[in-house]
Amino acid sequence: MSLKPETRDFLQKESLERFLHYVTIHTTSDDEKAGKTPSTERQFDLAKILRDELKELGLEKVELDEYCYVYATLPSNVDKNTVPIGFIAHIDTSNAVSGENVKPIIHKNYDGSDIVLSADPAVVISPSDVPYLKKVVGENIITASGDTLLGADDKAGIAEIMAAMAAFKKFPQLKHGEIRICFTPDEEIGMGTAKITLDKLGKYCYTVDGSEPGEIENECFDAYMVELTFNGVNVHPGFAKNKMTNAVNIAGRYLADLPEWESPEHTEKREGFYHPMGISGNVEKCSFKMIVRDFENQANLTRIEALKKLNAAYEARYPNLKIEMEVKHQYQNMREVLDNYPEVIELAVKAIELSEIKVIQNYIRGGTDGSRLCQMGIPTPNLFAGGMLFHGKKEFIAESSLRKAAETIIHLSALWADKGTD
Ligand SMILES: [Zn+2]
Repeated sequence: MSLKPETRDFLQKESLERFLHYVTIHTTSDDEKAGKTPSTERQFDLAKILRDELKELGLEKVELDEYCYVYATLPSNVDKNTVPIGFIAHIDTSNAVSGENVKPIIHKNYDGSDIVLSADPAVVISPSDVPYLKKVVGENIITASGDTLLGADDKAGIAEIMAAMAAFKKFPQLKHGEIRICFTPDEEIGMGTAKITLDKLGKYCYTVDGSEPGEIENECFDAYMVELTFNGVNVHPGFAKNKMTNAVNIAGRYLADLPEWESPEHTEKREGFYHPMGISGNVEKCSFKMIVRDFENQANLTRIEALKKLNAAYEARYPNLKIEMEVKHQYQNMREVLDNYPEVIELAVKAIELSEIKVIQNYIRGGTDGSRLCQMGIPTPNLFAGGMLFHGKKEFIAESSLRKAAETIIHLSALWADKGTD
C-alpha cells in the first residue's frame, strides 16, 4: 500500500518548494505582546499566502479570521460516512533567535562532516553533538545561513500539510475522508489556541510540529504555576534586633531548601522538577514564581503538598512571617485524554509504518497546543515535522523528512477514511 514513486516525487517537490518559500517570510511572535492575538501583525503575511494557496488548491470553507487563524476543509472523496480529522501547524516562529531575512541553504549530498554555517561566532552543526546527522549522510540537508533560525518549526509542518492537500487534488485516486486544516498564530508563546474556533477543527486532530521522522508524541508534562509571596517586617537596620523579619533572607533560605536534584538542570526523560524562574522584592515583601512539572499529576500534587508543609515550617520558625501561595494548574498530560481514544495513536503508528519509517513513540518535556486541545475536548497528539534543533541558529531539516511527513499525512487520512464513522 505504499505510495507510487510518482506520488512520492510530487510530494517531495511540493513540500520542498513551499517550505523554501515559507521560511523566507518573517513571522516571529512576541511573548511581551501575548495579550493580543496575533501578538505580531507580520504573522498575517504568511497567513494570507496560505489562505490564497488553499483557495487555489480548491479547498472549501477557506477562511483567514481577524485573529490570524487559517481554516480550510477538504471534502471526503469516499462513499461512506467518515469522521472529520484535522491537521494543525503554526505560522509563528520562536523569538529566541531572529527569524527575519532567513536564507535557506541546501547542503547537497551531506558527507557526514561538520556543517559550518559561520566561523566567528562559531555556528557549527556537528555529528558529535547531534548523532541524528549520521542517519542522513548522503541526503540533502537544509539549514539557515548562520544569523537566524531556519523556521522548520513549524513551517515544515505547514509545507507538509499543504503538499499533502496538493497531492489529494492531483491524484484523486488517493482516498480520504473530510479533512480540516488549521494554521494558528502564536504557538511559540503558548497562545496558539487562545482564539481558536473549536467547531472548525476535526473531531480528532494532529499537530504536525514534532521533530525526528517517525515521532508520534502522546504525552506532555502536567503543569502547575506556583507564586509564593513572603511578607516580612521592615525596621531600621540599626535597631532591628528581634524586630525585623527580612523577607529577602527568608525567601533565599526557602529556595535553598527545595530539593536540588529536582530542578530542570538535573532532570531528564520522565523526571519532574521545581523551577523558580525569577524573584523580586525587598525586606518587607519578596515573591517568586515557580513552575512545577511532572508527567504524573499525583507527583505534582505531592510536590505542592511538600511546599505547603515547608510554608508551615517557615511560619513557625519566623513568627512575624506570612507566606501566601497561589497555585494554578496550567495544563495536563494529554495522555490522560488520549488513553480514551486509542485509535488516534494506533492509526498514526500504522501511517508511519506505511511510510516505511521507524516509529518513535515519544513524550514532550513541555506543553503543546495539542495538550490544550485535548483539554478542550479534541484529542490531538503531535506528529513529526522533521526539523531538528528548534529555536536556534543550528536548526536544520533533511529534505526527505518533508516528503516523509507529507506521506504520513496521506496514509493517515486514508486509514481514517477506511475506518468510517465510529
Ligand atoms: Zn513548533
